[in-house]
Amino acid sequence: MLRLPIIVNDFLDIFRKNKFQIFVVGGAVRDLLLNRNVDNWDFATSATPEEILKLFPVGFYNNKYGTVTIHLDKSLFEVTPFRQEGEYKDQRHPDKIEWAKTIEEDLSRRDFTINAIAFDGKKLIDPYQGQVNLEQKLISAVGDPDKRFNEDALRLIRAVRLASELGFLIEEKTRLSIAKNAHLISKISWERIRDEFFKILSSNHPSEGVLFLRNSGLLTFIIPELDVCFIIPQKSPKRHHIYDVGTHLVMALKHCPSKDVITRFATVLHDIGKSSTFRRDDKSGLITFYNHEVVGTFMVKKIADRFRLSKNQKDKLVKLVQHHQFTVSELQTDKAVRRFITNIGKEYLQDMLDLRYADRVGSGATPTSWRFELFKKRLIDVQKEPFKIADLKINGHDVMKILGIKPGKKVGEILKSIFNDVEEGRLKNERSILLKKIEDFKKL
Ligand code: ATP
Ligand code: MG
Repeated sequence: MLRLPIIVNDFLDIFRKNKFQIFVVGGAVRDLLLNRNVDNWDFATSATPEEILKLFPVGFYNNKYGTVTIHLDKSLFEVTPFRQEGEYKDQRHPDKIEWAKTIEEDLSRRDFTINAIAFDGKKLIDPYQGQVNLEQKLISAVGDPDKRFNEDALRLIRAVRLASELGFLIEEKTRLSIAKNAHLISKISWERIRDEFFKILSSNHPSEGVLFLRNSGLLTFIIPELDVCFIIPQKSPKRHHIYDVGTHLVMALKHCPSKDVITRFATVLHDIGKSSTFRRDDKSGLITFYNHEVVGTFMVKKIADRFRLSKNQKDKLVKLVQHHQFTVSELQTDKAVRRFITNIGKEYLQDMLDLRYADRVGSGATPTSWRFELFKKRLIDVQKEPFKIADLKINGHDVMKILGIKPGKKVGEILKSIFNDVEEGRLKNERSILLKKIEDFKKL
């Protein structure tokens, strides 16, 4: 027996007391049946938007779909009058929205069977066997898939998104129809594609989602640069690679420890420059991708613009791809390690390390190595050392006092010289040691 939280039951009661029909629908019923957490509650009602607003004047309504949004407690309630849709001519928007009289009509215009179940608080209304598909872990279109994807092409990628979030497969007829109609996705705005694609990346099964996009032909319309990577081989003598570039990128995504969507995006794009830098030496058979990170940087800038990323998102994506080839040699100087931190930016350091981890595991390598561990330790250590003169444990006053000199150029020069010694590792940044060092300048 499904149980609704008290706040939701009370909400339903207010409508019923006013003689309106109301049902919990969509993702909320689906997630209740799956025992998943629900924070966004979708409702369908016989009330009109105006009538809903009379009951809940705090509601917010400015939407062409007639949805009234109400924030109660920490939950979001979205109430939509029963709908029936008119004709679609542009694969995006119904030409006009018409209200329906019954919940059954409303359910018939919903996208997938598992999203087309209604619950009135006591019984489930499930005309399309959504519960059977939930049991089978299958995404199936309501009715004729070709017709449904032609009405609204966003459903093509919503199917993949739901499958990735729920760990479901897509039912065969629906799957074949997605492949057949994949080109229609180009009718959808990049913002809406991005929102769904980012949900795929953030889901529990992002690599399966991207592989499905590839296999269904959707990827070639969304990120053609990634699509071509699946035909770029990289197995060659003396190289550790076991996968083609595309499979490697998807495997890296699978193992990316970060939940951050931009870090995951960077992970699945990091080698994107390999498609145009591929070279195979005729004699040795050796495959190389010189400067692929430079080419890749240009490519992800374009992808970021296409996906309408914010300035910060773009900056992060570009930096992670641009610097993903960093070396972790024990022979690097502290200065080089610091330069690495400055290049990436402290705020993205963990993301960069997560990408490297994903890159390693996604190539079939061990998760770490002693060099990688040493490098991570050095990142912490060098950050304890000063980056700027102001971080030294001494300052100009100490110099003037010990040397008995007045403010001037000389004070700065002495600090700079000591700073260099600390940065190069010749001196430790400890006050007693640096005070003693100032004494050396007495002789000069
Ligand atoms: P979640 O909220 O977890 O992202 P959801 O399934 O609730 O998933 P919403 O976008 O909130 O997704 O949509 C609510 C419901 O509206 C869906 O469950 C579905 O029944 C219906 N719906 C949403 N988008 C479409 C669409 N493009 N075509 C048909 N029905 C749709
Ligand atoms: Mg929802």
